[in-house]
Amino acid sequence: MAEVKSTCCYCGVGCGVIIETADNHSSKAEVIGVRGDPDHPANFGRLCSKGSTLHLTANPELQKQARLGQPAIRQERGAIPADVSWSKATQTIANRFAEIIKEHGPESVGIYVSGQLLTEDYYVFNKLMKGLIGANNIDTNSRLCMSSAVAGYKQTLGMDAPPCSYEDIDVASTIFITGSNTAFAHPILYRRLEDARKNNPNMKVIVVDPRRTDTAKEADLYLQIQPGTDVALYHGMLHIMLWEKWLDESYIASFTEGFDVLKDLVRDFTPKAVAGICGIKEKDLYLASEWFARSGATLSMYCQGLNQSASGTAKNAALVNLHLATGQIGKPGAGPFSLTGQPNAMGGREVGGLANLLSAHRDLSNPEHRQEVADLWGVHSVPEKPGLSAIPMFEALRNGELKAIWIVCTNPAQSMPDLNVVHEGLSKAKFVVVQDAYANTATTLYADVLLPATTWAEKTGTVTNSERRISRVNPAIAPYESSKHDWQIALDVARALEPLLPNTKRDGVETLFPYLTPEDIWNEHRASTQGRDLDITGLSYAILEECGPQQWPMPIGSNAGKKRLYADGIFPTKNKKARFIAAPYKATVEAVDARYPFALNTGRLRDQWHGMSRTGTVGTLYAHSPEPCIEISPKDAGRMNLENGSLVHVTSRRGSEIFPVKISEDIASSQAFIAMHWGSEFISGCAGKTAGRGVNGLTCGAIDPVSGQPELKHSAIKILPTNLP
Ligand code: SF4
Repeated sequence: MAEVKSTCCYCGVGCGVIIETADNHSSKAEVIGVRGDPDHPANFGRLCSKGSTLHLTANPELQKQARLGQPAIRQERGAIPADVSWSKATQTIANRFAEIIKEHGPESVGIYVSGQLLTEDYYVFNKLMKGLIGANNIDTNSRLCMSSAVAGYKQTLGMDAPPCSYEDIDVASTIFITGSNTAFAHPILYRRLEDARKNNPNMKVIVVDPRRTDTAKEADLYLQIQPGTDVALYHGMLHIMLWEKWLDESYIASFTEGFDVLKDLVRDFTPKAVAGICGIKEKDLYLASEWFARSGATLSMYCQGLNQSASGTAKNAALVNLHLATGQIGKPGAGPFSLTGQPNAMGGREVGGLANLLSAHRDLSNPEHRQEVADLWGVHSVPEKPGLSAIPMFEALRNGELKAIWIVCTNPAQSMPDLNVVHEGLSKAKFVVVQDAYANTATTLYADVLLPATTWAEKTGTVTNSERRISRVNPAIAPYESSKHDWQIALDVARALEPLLPNTKRDGVETLFPYLTPEDIWNEHRASTQGRDLDITGLSYAILEECGPQQWPMPIGSNAGKKRLYADGIFPTKNKKARFIAAPYKATVEAVDARYPFALNTGRLRDQWHGMSRTGTVGTLYAHSPEPCIEISPKDAGRMNLENGSLVHVTSRRGSEIFPVKISEDIASSQAFIAMHWGSEFISGCAGKTAGRGVNGLTCGAIDPVSGQPELKHSAIKILPTNLP
């Protein structure tokens, strides 16, 4: 038996795992177990239900059913793909991309990647699109989960960086959980919170959520707000803090700017008005304001409830306002702590793997930043025009502006909102490449070329978790069949494409992609961070091996990463001050009305992950929630004469699905909840007929104008009994 230290591939907590392997009869190593790494500072040996069953997803028999093993090409849409060699697949992609670029220009192709990719994978794809092809059309499914947090941090604090550490949970006096079911979405952090409460019985936990989640049930104070009213709530809290003189005037004067404008804005957010908008009691609003402002240290933890909104940036900024106004930032146990959903959404941001970013958090709109990256890469220039972000990318496929797309390690035909757009776009595309470890996703059906990628237990590289901590991912077993690492596939296509796009290279440069190993890529990435706020020039693979996972920044010469940012009150803005943002409160895009009277919310189950490509292969993970359902309140169920298990048509302006009803005291009247994981195959299985496209056949594709993040948390729907037996 052998053991390899690596990192869990599911959520942004980034737990360390120890993978146990044994040789089978053919002397090939197989994963036989997994346990938490006691030395990893994210989890100290603990794992949640998903992490502790990771080894089951690597079961060889199961791999045969679920994995893509060979590159394959479809002669026409709908045909069975035929296996081909890697060189044939790679050259086909290079030729088709080059043809389309020649005919329609570099902006006619796009790459859609994933927060599941490792930093090294992300780096090569980003350089391929922005450096070699010469367009910025690369975006990621992280756009769907954290781009509003990025924009909120940049607007207020000047940099996309969670300023906190997990250690802050241990020492906070008040924890303000808002828009996060931490108990389900970040279970190991929630256990840390439970321990902290045991150690400090005076700690207060406030939870804000329209749905009474498992996290909300354990709160000292629970604010069951109306969907989408978060900005009004935070402005109302600031109004009370102002009135009661609970603000840190000295912090505001020394380290911030823009408070007077915000003060004017929140004048109208009286307790009475806010209690009315949010649907909560005035006394609870007062208590939340007092606990937040007057505690020794207040830590906010937040996630998709804030981010997945057409007002996501405003929500994030309004929350950061509260921390700045009370000085609850830059000290142990305090700060606005955005929890990332995916295992490497942070790493993707760090390499600039989004349509509007460049390496090391450089801005695409800054000519100096573009030139720095062009010089680093050895290309003439990096284009100025922002690329297509996630939702517009699929809209552009549908309207014909985008001709070809390469989808990597994600399943947009199930996970994007308003799926009609995605399916129509993929049907119309001239050329679709899908690179994935898993064979049977809703997206692989559209692929002209299928590329088999390695996955957890096979991959090597790095990831960054929610607290800016970079950990190694190490391989314990050989790649499945002919699958290759994502960075290798990107590299092969890039090298095949280089001679077909000769103008993108500087004279004398043989290849823009000279890497032999992921470490070569990592070293170029860390060199690109020199002098930047996220400087990791001191963080080599050797240091990660020797000293374990580290938080950035960690420039050359430092012994360890940095636990907490802004302890000195100096912010990475032009005048070094943090900025208050006076964002107006806006209601959700799709108001409920007489025709669509229910507000649909979506979110995670405890034991499933995203589109279930991986967790859906593990039987034990179904026990917690074995089938899709729509949760509604007892009052609404009674009104419609529905019982548990009654089948209903759930209809939005975009589509209709059939779900069984689950009556739940946790849902407020006129609201409903469906877990985000259920695609069409699961829905049809439960309802006995194919209703449509799954939960995202219903959801709303409206996006935040700053971050581009869609409003997955709120869609207006109607619910009607099917009268089916
Ligand atoms: Fe994996 Fe997240 Fe669970 Fe940790 S909390 S074991 S990273 S899924």
